[in-house]
Amino acid sequence: MYDIVIIGAGPAGLTAAIYAKRASKSVLVLEAKAYGGQIINTPDIENYPVAAHISGFEFATKVYEQAQALGAEFKFEKAVDIKDLGNIKEVVTESGVHQAKAVIIATGSENRKLGVEKEDELVGRGISYCATCDGAFYRKKRVAVVGGGNTALEDALYLADIAEKVYLIHRRDGFRGEEENVKSLKARENVEFVLNSRVVGLNADKRLESIDVLNNDGSLRTIEVKGLFVAVGRIPENQNFAKVVNLDSAGYAIAGEDCLTNTKGIFVAGDNRVKNVRQLVTATADGAVAVNEAVKYINNL
Ligand code: NAP
Repeated sequence: MYDIVIIGAGPAGLTAAIYAKRASKSVLVLEAKAYGGQIINTPDIENYPVAAHISGFEFATKVYEQAQALGAEFKFEKAVDIKDLGNIKEVVTESGVHQAKAVIIATGSENRKLGVEKEDELVGRGISYCATCDGAFYRKKRVAVVGGGNTALEDALYLADIAEKVYLIHRRDGFRGEEENVKSLKARENVEFVLNSRVVGLNADKRLESIDVLNNDGSLRTIEVKGLFVAVGRIPENQNFAKVVNLDSAGYAIAGEDCLTNTKGIFVAGDNRVKNVRQLVTATADGAVAVNEAVKYINNL
């Protein structure tokens, strides 16, 4: 039996592994895919303290190696269930069962995709899901943002300060995001609203060159942009744990800044938790906080 099983080897889970080992706990990290989580898709991280530039892959590799060197054990298995047996938790994976005193769920969230042809192959070559990560690559260029929630509106505002022109494309004429953000965008001369419209085609040579946008009235427009920022919501990866952790209507685990869930001994860290700021630095911070709470819990068993 392990002291702590951590589900997810993204920045939150890997940081949790480091803190848990430094607290002399035995640790198993379970990861369904590859270590690193969504940060490995970011070509250049410029907003994390210490390194002015580091690729997401290099960042993730360094943190993974740091956790391994401290003695964290890793198994590449997808966790499909957690059973709460009181002082013992059982994490069921596709290949077995692992017992622990405490579990930290750090499974993150996936970007919802547009589902347009070539979307996957153009990630990092024009398609981005993170304006604060990648916006600086589009200085003085034309870009578009898709979505009508606060993420899209804030992305468009952020990009309006960097890019030559920002097209905000939304499938309705009413926004889900805050009116204040809409007002701020309307005041920007370099922002054009393209409403009642969907992106239906991506035109690229090696990089994105333009997008085809279909209006609900049936008219088609091609807009030349070097960058398309997709902000159509996220899908938190909590579905397998809904029996032991309360989720909000969007599927995020309900937990405060202390990372405590409604089940004693089960904690949640990172992007799959209800929170306002989903950044690398807040994910790693959650890893530390969740371990602090888990260690307190274990020491009181
Ligand atoms: P969201 O609020 O769920 O909005 C997603 C938007 O994408 C919606 O406008 C939706 O259109 C559109 N959309 C969904 N699927 C689409 C598709 N296939 N094609 C085109 N458009 C599609 O997501 P979010 O903006 O990421 O925000 C998530 C949560 O975080 C929200 O509660 C938000 O308020 C919060 N947030 C807060 C802050 C802040 O407090 N500063 C910042 C960012 C986010 P419809 O409206 O037509 O459904």
